[in-house]
Amino acid sequence: MSELRRCPIRGHHVILATDRLVTPNIRPPVNGGGDGCVLCVDGPARRWKVLGRRGACVVVPNGRPALKIEAQGGWQRVGPYERREGLGAHEVIVESDEHGRTPWQQTPAELADVLSLARERLIDLRRDPRLKNLSWIKVHRAEAGARVDHPHSQVIALPEPGPLAAREVEAHERYAQENHGRSLSQDLIQHELQDGARVIHADPLFVSLVPFAPWAAFECWIWPRSGGPAFESTDDDDSLALASHLCGLLSRLHTALGDAPLQIVLRTEPSCATFRWRLELRPVIENPRALTLATGCAEQAVPPEEVAAFLRGL
Ligand SMILES: [Zn+2]
Repeated sequence: MSELRRCPIRGHHVILATDRLVTPNIRPPVNGGGDGCVLCVDGPARRWKVLGRRGACVVVPNGRPALKIEAQGGWQRVGPYERREGLGAHEVIVESDEHGRTPWQQTPAELADVLSLARERLIDLRRDPRLKNLSWIKVHRAEAGARVDHPHSQVIALPEPGPLAAREVEAHERYAQENHGRSLSQDLIQHELQDGARVIHADPLFVSLVPFAPWAAFECWIWPRSGGPAFESTDDDDSLALASHLCGLLSRLHTALGDAPLQIVLRTEPSCATFRWRLELRPVIENPRALTLATGCAEQAVPPEEVAAFLRGL
């Protein structure tokens, strides 16, 4: 059983899951297939319990879950520290039968199935009142954290929000108090659309942009132009429209950066009425800097306005 520990100084959580110490199964496709790949059509994951299916996409429990829904008990004090069993959920969406298919090659229809499956699993996991920190993540290539190079993503649920999510909720609640209930996310979206300097592409439903203060080079966000705090409230039409927008952004990033390692993260906060869900895309093209570790301050060599203009022109 894994364990969750909370840092008493910084407030973040750490998952201790010693049985996940495995050799990454990263290898080039062999004749289009992944010899020994756990997620391939003849791999062991395909014999695990199926939690959902859409087209060629299937979602299964992680074979080596970092967290388990069967975990018991709450936080226990150990002197000045707190620990608990590794409560949560950790599921894998196998996105294709084709080993080695990259995000740049996936079609809007394929990604729409992935997004719809993710939404279905998040809705199901929300029924467990113990789970409050839910997300969908997709990583591409080992440098971004992928343990297999079969196209996949993960649905993850923890018992409480980490400091990052808590700060985002706090910022929205404070902004609403100081601005007659207005939504910080909505006002940012409106400002970005009016200003235009950091917008990469806007269609009737979604806008992709480079954030005003990006953590990572070529970081991009996709925001719905209207909607609520929860990605779980979207429907299949939204999935297809989002997938089309996402494919367009992925194409621009591929043109700019080639087959770069990539992380995609969903931010969804149903409990915060003024929040607006979004996708964050982070190409992994440089290592974290000691300056950031020391100060909590990121450093960028290229202004986000120039990055946006470059991507906009591709
Ligand atoms: Zn495979």
